Amino acid sequence: MRNLIPVTRACLLLSVLLFGHGIAAQEPAVPKAATPSEILDQLNKVAIDPAQVYLMHGVQITRGGINFYLNRGFIGFLEKVNGEITGAVFSGDGEVLLIPPNATEKASLAQFTQAPVLEEKISFAYFRFTDSTARELLAVARKPDSDDAEQPAGFADRWDPVVRQLDPIFSLRILEDLLGDRTHPYFHAQLQGVEQGVFAVSVDERAPEAVMVGAVRPSHGTAFADIWCAFPTRTSEAHAPELMRGSVRVHSYKIDTQINSDNSMEGHAELELESILSKEHILIFNLSSRLRVSEVRNELGEKLDNFQAPPPDSEETLTVGDNWLAVVLPTPYPAGSRFRMNFTYQGNVIDDMGHGVLYVGERGSWYPNRGPVGRASYDLTFRYPAALTLVATGDREEESTAGDVKKSHWVSHGEFPVAGFNLGPYDSRLRKVGKTDIEVYATAEAEAALEKRHDVAQTSKATLSVERGTGRVILAPALTPVIPLTPSALLDQVAERARQSLKYFETLFGPYPYSRLAIAQIPGHSGQGWPELVYLPTLSFLGQSEQAEMGVQGKSAEYVDQVIAAHEIAHQWWGNEVGWQTHHDQWLSEGFASYSALLYLGQQKDGERKVREVLRSYKRDLMAKTPEGHTVESGGPIWLGQRLTNSLNPNGYNDIVYKKACWVLRMLHVLMTDPATGSDARFFKMLREFITAYHGASPSTEDFMRHAEKYMTPAMDLDRNHHLQWFFDDWVYETGIPTYKLDFSSRRLAQDKYAVQGTIEQSGVPAGFQMLVPLVATFGKEKKVTLGLVAVNETGGRFKFTTKGHPAHLAIDEDDLLAVVK
Ligand SMILES: [Zn+2]
Repeated sequence: MRNLIPVTRACLLLSVLLFGHGIAAQEPAVPKAATPSEILDQLNKVAIDPAQVYLMHGVQITRGGINFYLNRGFIGFLEKVNGEITGAVFSGDGEVLLIPPNATEKASLAQFTQAPVLEEKISFAYFRFTDSTARELLAVARKPDSDDAEQPAGFADRWDPVVRQLDPIFSLRILEDLLGDRTHPYFHAQLQGVEQGVFAVSVDERAPEAVMVGAVRPSHGTAFADIWCAFPTRTSEAHAPELMRGSVRVHSYKIDTQINSDNSMEGHAELELESILSKEHILIFNLSSRLRVSEVRNELGEKLDNFQAPPPDSEETLTVGDNWLAVVLPTPYPAGSRFRMNFTYQGNVIDDMGHGVLYVGERGSWYPNRGPVGRASYDLTFRYPAALTLVATGDREEESTAGDVKKSHWVSHGEFPVAGFNLGPYDSRLRKVGKTDIEVYATAEAEAALEKRHDVAQTSKATLSVERGTGRVILAPALTPVIPLTPSALLDQVAERARQSLKYFETLFGPYPYSRLAIAQIPGHSGQGWPELVYLPTLSFLGQSEQAEMGVQGKSAEYVDQVIAAHEIAHQWWGNEVGWQTHHDQWLSEGFASYSALLYLGQQKDGERKVREVLRSYKRDLMAKTPEGHTVESGGPIWLGQRLTNSLNPNGYNDIVYKKACWVLRMLHVLMTDPATGSDARFFKMLREFITAYHGASPSTEDFMRHAEKYMTPAMDLDRNHHLQWFFDDWVYETGIPTYKLDFSSRRLAQDKYAVQGTIEQSGVPAGFQMLVPLVATFGKEKKVTLGLVAVNETGGRFKFTTKGHPAHLAIDEDDLLAVVK
């Protein structure tokens, strides 16, 4: 049997493979455990109870609308833990029937399984549950007797190795229910399908989208957690607002961190929390498993039982990068009550990348937190070697040095979704925009990996020459010495660009939401924009010639130089000031930041051409074909968020949520621009007022749609109902890039008066797709004028314009429309 690999929510987030660990030999069943960690231990090792193996004939159970048929075979229940059966193993002939509840999920399922409905024969199932599954199955199970042709001899021995491998993955989730709130139960089935291979069905009523069906599949040497479909159950939908808030909310973090000269860290965090679900005994936090917790205490100073994911190098490591910490409450806090927790932990989350460059790899888990869902206030104190400079999110309230230790204190004014820091032997520059300080930090040398790449590039620069006399071609190595990379040399340039983009964004989106902005270099190629702290890759601190030596050339160099920094700075408005509700809405952060960066690029010398080039390259990437022969764009609607990256579309999230979403904003911009005057004031008013309306909040796609509708022009009202549902259906909730074919003729009506009329044909998109298509006319040699927007749907579109001059050429503006024009 192939390895059974589950798809769990953690797995979805981390895209990790869960195998390759060894587990100690099975111990005999332990009596009811006293402590939560003992129960967890039992759950990690629970085996099939040989006395509880039964015959199954014609049994059906339904979970989350999915039918499981156990037609013929044996089922073995797992030993009781804490007095309960939490799992069972079925082997025989079975079937799973799943009909996704909507067109999007049907299309998603079809991508992975070639059919919009899943009707799959199964030969094996591993079930884990905290609901009524054991009771239901036991009621219809029959003990085999000697008359039965099939006997379950050896059933437990045969399946126990598989069970033991899978057990630990589900333990924590089961423990949450065993000790806490039983009103949001859990059911998971790990299935061996006859056609589809191993796949999983999960119905977790603690998640707003309780049902998740998928499989781990390899592609290009990476394992992807493919989500075939996900949707809410009736119960999880009814409780969605409360489930989205989670079981507790953190109001404030007070974190004291000491960083030693060997980069190890000792941390102390005090969290002020509020209970939301009143029955929880276990609270789960994110904390890097590289940091080990020595104690957790409540506000009375009492020690709380806790356990965390094994360290990454441990034998028992189950999931790479699994960063959970579970804290046990002796009594749950009633909903609405506030309480405090103190955490002490130590370890190392800072890596030395060579040449003095440090890397805080675990940027989101260097302190115990509940993820970026809620916002909280932060008070951070750091002590670190005096030779280093440390920058953090928040305002620097204090910085002092005593001997060889520096201390700095950072406070968030307002609530942040996250907190982070960066440190190194930095050089820095300061700029000011109004009252906002912009600080830029970089190291004198680049990290070893980049320097090595640079060395190789420089030394391999050979020259070709022709030997005089013989005419032989000679390859001579370059004699120029290798000049080390110096990121800090370009500090002024980076600082100046940051100043310009921040100033420009203020004119578009309103005041910069914070009092300062620090930009600090990190190793690698991608950046991140955290509140008041932008992480910018070393590559952004190199000159174009150095970038070129490392293979970043032409448009990419332009991109690295201007677009990355502007994108990360734009996140201060999009992502930080205005957040997003769930993964469905993350495009509101990434798409807006990407489009903001293009708007900034458009302001540069020759900017319009550069913007068009970037948009065209985005279009090319979206139209590119996957190995299966589909376009990247058809991988799924923007609304699917992180699910878009999967084994069929390894770069799906990046292409669709950054590039297509950028195009969506571009098109909204075009539609809200007055063709007669060229004014786009309406679009920017819409954006500014969106920021005002959702300052410090986390809007959904629906919220943005409702907001945009207030600013739509009469022409945009294609459905004559004052809604933009058609636009969001076309571009956000569904897939499809239309193809348009233009036919036109013009005739002179009078002196300086011409009639231009024609039709536009639409194809390549589902019926119901409609759009306003921008038409441009060229007069004389150069002069391009947007004539207007033509409403086009499946029956095509007709237009008639009157112009003063004779149009030399008429075209659909491909730079303003994500479409193929024929
Ligand atoms: Zn971004």
